[in-house]
Amino acid sequence: MEPGTDRTGARHIRLTSHSGGPLAPPIRWGAPTPAERGPIVGTTGNRAHRNVIGTHSGSYGVYRALAVAAGALSPQHRADLTNTAPTDVIGPYPQWQNPDAIVSLDPWGAAVADVFADQLAADHDIRPTIAVTKAHVMLPEIAEALQKGRLRPDGRILLAGGAAVVTKVAVEPVWYLPGVAARFGCDEAALRRALFEETGGMYPELVTRGDLEVFLPPIGGQTVYIFGDPRDLADPAVELTARVHDECNGSDVFGSDICTCRPYLTHAIEECIAGTQRGGVGLVAYSRKEGRALGEVTKFLVYNARKRQVGGDTADQYFARTECVAGVQDMRFQELMPDVLHWLGITRIHRLVSMSNMKYDAITGSGISVGERVNIPDELIPADARVEIDAKMAAGYFTPGPVPDAEDLKKTVGRGLA
Ligand SMILES: [Zn+2]
Repeated sequence: MEPGTDRTGARHIRLTSHSGGPLAPPIRWGAPTPAERGPIVGTTGNRAHRNVIGTHSGSYGVYRALAVAAGALSPQHRADLTNTAPTDVIGPYPQWQNPDAIVSLDPWGAAVADVFADQLAADHDIRPTIAVTKAHVMLPEIAEALQKGRLRPDGRILLAGGAAVVTKVAVEPVWYLPGVAARFGCDEAALRRALFEETGGMYPELVTRGDLEVFLPPIGGQTVYIFGDPRDLADPAVELTARVHDECNGSDVFGSDICTCRPYLTHAIEECIAGTQRGGVGLVAYSRKEGRALGEVTKFLVYNARKRQVGGDTADQYFARTECVAGVQDMRFQELMPDVLHWLGITRIHRLVSMSNMKYDAITGSGISVGERVNIPDELIPADARVEIDAKMAAGYFTPGPVPDAEDLKKTVGRGLA
């Protein structure tokens, strides 16, 4: 009998709102060993083994469904993990055993083929939620830094052709719902209900299966770029230069000049390379939270509203225009961001390449100490991005210079829509 069919061959839909099978391994979040913690099983191939709500690959789970619907992918496909092991071993670190320190990723997610080998051999479909590889990154800004003599190749971190040698890590979200609720200071039942209702009822188990405490949300994850030896990240004696960056496709990839995202990102990479060459280690943690997690459609609507308002695009109206369209000024909520830093064993950031008070507060509030804060140099701020940076500095962003006052903000005016 084909999976998903009854004896007559008719397809039926299997609802997920009743108890799982006895074969689903229990999850004890924060347990000291992988055996005690148990694997995260989000497979749709064998319902009896599932011990989470949702499925793997974040938002790409929807594309997987399309591939199945189109007949291009067998829903029973099992990943062949031969030769996919991490290039660098990360951890385990003491933070992995603290159920409060990490609530939005699976610390064992890179090592499943190793630590859950027995269950894999026993036909459990356990998938990595973290992958670790090596890369050379080539950026025109780094080539320019070489040309101008700000950076020098060393043949190890930075090659003569301008390529920086990195370890990069892709992380999918794995949410421990009681821990996520605690971070946001809300009731777990309220969190589950909002997740259920505000996704249009996408995951009924959020409200029907209180026994399932782990949710694989259909959102983007994070990518971490490490300059130098990843093991040095956990050593507070080694100088760590770090930036936590939230995705901005328009600037990061296409070079739009309305914000400082790409120039700040490439400045951070330059600082990471220089710091690593001094004997330190560098880190850029890149989160998929486009447009303050409001998405690009909202972001572009806000751009129009800013540039068409009476008086033009002024810094004093910067946050108000976002709030008019989106209902909030920002949806990034940095509460979960430090998890990836704890996963890497970080306890101290010597140089934080960020001016955001929200990121700083989240990092230090989670127990990681921060030394120096590195602002974006003035000459790297595009003219049209002055509106954003002045508004943010007035709202509490770190700046070593004067903080603009209300009168200053009225005078910072961006370009029109031409
Ligand atoms: Zn941006």
